Amino acid sequence: MADLQVLMVASECAPFVKTGGLADVVGALPAALKSQKITAEVMLPAYPPLYPLLAKGKVVATFDDLPGGAGRLVRVKAKGINLLLLDAPQLYDRAGGLYGDTAGVDWPDNALRFGALAKAAALVAMGAIKNYAPDVLHAHDWQAALAPVYLKMAGAAQPATVTTIHNIAFQGRFEAKTMAQLGLDADWFHPEGLEYHGDLSFLKGGLVYSDRITTVSPTYAREILTPEFGMGLQGVLAARAGDLTGLLNGIDTAAWDPNKDTALVRPYDVRSLKRKGENRAEIAKRFGLDPANKAPLFCVISRLTEQKGLDALLAALPHLVASGAQLAVLGSGAPDLEQGFQAAATVYPGQVGTYIGYDEPLSHLLQGGADAILIPSRFEPCGLTQLYGLHYGTLPVVARTGGLADTVIDANPAALAAGVATGFVMNAVTPQEICHTIDRVIAAYGDRKIWQTMQKSAMRHPVGWESSAAAYAALYQSLVS
Ligand code: ADP
Repeated sequence: MADLQVLMVASECAPFVKTGGLADVVGALPAALKSQKITAEVMLPAYPPLYPLLAKGKVVATFDDLPGGAGRLVRVKAKGINLLLLDAPQLYDRAGGLYGDTAGVDWPDNALRFGALAKAAALVAMGAIKNYAPDVLHAHDWQAALAPVYLKMAGAAQPATVTTIHNIAFQGRFEAKTMAQLGLDADWFHPEGLEYHGDLSFLKGGLVYSDRITTVSPTYAREILTPEFGMGLQGVLAARAGDLTGLLNGIDTAAWDPNKDTALVRPYDVRSLKRKGENRAEIAKRFGLDPANKAPLFCVISRLTEQKGLDALLAALPHLVASGAQLAVLGSGAPDLEQGFQAAATVYPGQVGTYIGYDEPLSHLLQGGADAILIPSRFEPCGLTQLYGLHYGTLPVVARTGGLADTVIDANPAALAAGVATGFVMNAVTPQEICHTIDRVIAAYGDRKIWQTMQKSAMRHPVGWESSAAAYAALYQSLVS
């Protein structure tokens, strides 16, 4: 039997263009699906970093009237991924980020930029590429969420459609007048359709008009049905609850393998955990930390935003430092948090080190050398850094929410006795609870046997794509049969 064909549509894909976990997932899922007899093509905007690939590819379709002008689609295979790059320089050829300028201000034409991506995807789904007829169109996040809408608006019954929510906090909300610029039928602008409180919502469109909806962990799938986590879309989701499932993300265990990781000064595996010490020494050098410190080294690798609870960590820092522990922070984002962690590095030299910026190899080194990774998120759809932490024996210290709750087993007395604990789970994101949890980490770290047993359980915890790839495959199959 021929492979099932899935057209994935997304705004980022690792290792080519990445701002967060979405890219990791879109970059890793296609390879994982291969073993399920599913062939995926990944459709992305051709941002400038992809230009070298454009030159190597083949033009497979041209479009005259996408939102924001014309475009052409270039097919190219790179790093094992079948890419379809939407080349529309008037929309994507600019210096800055994927979504905004260098100052972080959103591009004013984001509705057109991602409306064009979605429209082109719908046209491909309806046959724009010769000899290519995908069985399923899979849209990721708001940037792709209009693809199922365009498809339905064109009256196409095929292919089946799936929309995945990677973070419901980002919805793609634009003024009502954008409807016309996007060529969307004004009759669809109502509260049961594309309208969200007087505006157009891309994500709502995907949630209303896709055949199925997924999100990235079972707990988050339940949480987003509540007002606390649904960010206003809980009602829309409640109406679709029967079509909503939570499938946990995996990690790319080839790109993230502590025994083969070229970003580490000393690779290691579950039998040579001692070697983590050499990576810790390198972190000490890079972050200006005292290399003689024998207390645990915590790390943070994160966007610095309200979501991640790092303001509460800042408030807990005096306690962490008084306990003798160290902290290395890698991240960028909100200016007040950047300044807070930079100031902490100055106030606590040798114990706190901060690197503001985005640095992929440095994130690997931190996972390779730190003892624990702090993730006190207020909400976390899945979270990937705790999965890397588990895989690297860098014990996750997490809030009980979303995918964090689904993947980390707390070091409570029963779990310790059973030898299954893999990390530390806190019940609330408050400075007090963080301090209390740091005390628990330091106590466990003081008992070599407990700590090593936890590290080994963590490293053996399955974090790859195997089971979720099978679940996605089953979902796709259920839609086509
Ligand atoms: P989110 O998608 O909400 O940002 P995730 O935990 O799902 O959070 O994914 C974050 C991804 O981005 C991980 O791969 C993490 O290692 C990476 N990352 C975050 N901040 C940085 C940074 N400053 N430098 C390098 N990698 C980072």
